[in-house]
Amino acid sequence: MLNEILITESNEAVEKLEASYKKNWNAVREQGLCPTCENFKHHNIFLEDDDLTLFENDLFKVILEQKPRRSGHTIIIVKPHYDDISEMPIHIAEPLFLLTNKIISAIKKVLGATKVYFVTMCDGGPNHLHFQLIPRYEGEDHGSKVFVGERKRIKKDMLLINNLKYYINE
Ligand SMILES: [Zn+2]
Repeated sequence: MLNEILITESNEAVEKLEASYKKNWNAVREQGLCPTCENFKHHNIFLEDDDLTLFENDLFKVILEQKPRRSGHTIIIVKPHYDDISEMPIHIAEPLFLLTNKIISAIKKVLGATKVYFVTMCDGGPNHLHFQLIPRYEGEDHGSKVFVGERKRIKKDMLLINNLKYYINE
């Protein structure tokens, strides 16, 4: 039994809207541009929901994944453009890991996760460096299946989401 604390069923209206954004995504990819950088400039590539931003400063933006593989699936975007971690200047590692530590602690405390997996792939360019945090809950199998769990739809329980923001930003 999966922990579905921040998970709900698919939503046709939102999916239709996402499909319309997908056209812009395809268009910038065809021009060889980075969709994430274009979205930071124009906000027209990804369907954004400010309620789901857990943290933001000059270097990072942290959002709850709208199509999570697990409850509390979180994305850390490094704002400057790097194709993948091999291009990331090493001085970013310290603030990144301090932030990651805070987010993982918050997901454990607020959502009750047993473990939180940390992964970066950024495959299939042009791509923009980001990290995924995927929680595992009690009773779920250990291991890599967590990384490829079925995608669901986020449930906007703002009490829980605001609690996550509180612990990450304190
Ligand atoms: Zn980029």
